[in-house]
Amino acid sequence: MNEFELIKRYFSRASGRADVVVGVGDDAAVLDVPPGLQLVAAVDTIIEGIHFPAGTSAVDIGYRALAVNLSDIAAMGAEPRWITLSLTTPRADASWLEGFAAGLYELAARHDVALVGGDTCKGPLVISVQVLGTIEYGRALLRAGARPGDAIYVSGVPGEAAAGLALLQSNAERDSASEHLVRRFLRPEPRLNLGRSLRGVASAAMDISDGLVTDLTKLCAASHCGARLDLERLPLSTPMHARFTEAQVRHFTLAGGDDYELLFTVPREHEPQLSAFDVPCTRVGEIVAGDGVGGFLHGEKIALPSAGFDHFREEDT
Ligand code: ADP
Ligand code: MG
Repeated sequence: MNEFELIKRYFSRASGRADVVVGVGDDAAVLDVPPGLQLVAAVDTIIEGIHFPAGTSAVDIGYRALAVNLSDIAAMGAEPRWITLSLTTPRADASWLEGFAAGLYELAARHDVALVGGDTCKGPLVISVQVLGTIEYGRALLRAGARPGDAIYVSGVPGEAAAGLALLQSNAERDSASEHLVRRFLRPEPRLNLGRSLRGVASAAMDISDGLVTDLTKLCAASHCGARLDLERLPLSTPMHARFTEAQVRHFTLAGGDDYELLFTVPREHEPQLSAFDVPCTRVGEIVAGDGVGGFLHGEKIALPSAGFDHFREEDT
């Protein structure tokens, strides 16, 4: 199978989107951006051995490569429309490609996004997906915008995906709790509906990819304010508690990325609107004047894990 055949066979499904004028097959895609909308663009790369363990199934890799990108669009409150895919793979293995395409197209179909182009190279397994979406002029949810007094919320149960990754890497015995956690790592749910609901409600938003404390610190820096995190409010995970100690659970919850839940701030007068949302969201703290994130347990100050994931962090010496 040559490169042309590979693209034709695995990455040329028709999307049915009317805004794709030219998709896969030409030098570049031609896309209709409706007047009055702003284009929202993001790209994320996942690398075997860094973002997912070697041995992860092709279907799960295909799903995850897109999910982490859709999550960025969700965090902006935007509508995803199109993706491009840069795939570098060591060999043109038909069953791997079939699985990968199945995982990717499954999630793409669910959210009505079209694969409109890409690039294919031979080399170590690296997958980049670029996602393009749109939003009404000026309505994007930014990291900047939080104000002292705003409540801080997280969606879902942060930490479960990091716990799942730890289980994947430890060859631990599988039970229903561990199956749930591993699935949360392999199949993160991009919170697109929640992002839409947050337009005009949240004052700031981002997705949690590097860990709750690290990402909240980034949101605070962008908003020029600080945060108080009330640890007793963090959502409880029965499956995490079934498999891990209290200290491990706290570490996963505060420092584990990979869940792709949304972290957002809400002015008090908008809080009642959250009860209508279809994803459970938990208030975990409050924006305060100053800078940095302070952790509290039943009102007592408590040390927080310092940093989440950072590719370029120097090793401690
Ligand atoms: P060029 O040399 O003009 O970049 P390529 O041979 O790289 O063309 O790609 C041919 C067509 O296939 C282009 O439309 C490109 O966007 C698309 N394409 C290449 N690889 C992929 C891929 N992995 N997924 C989707 N589309 C792809
Ligand atoms: Mg090319």
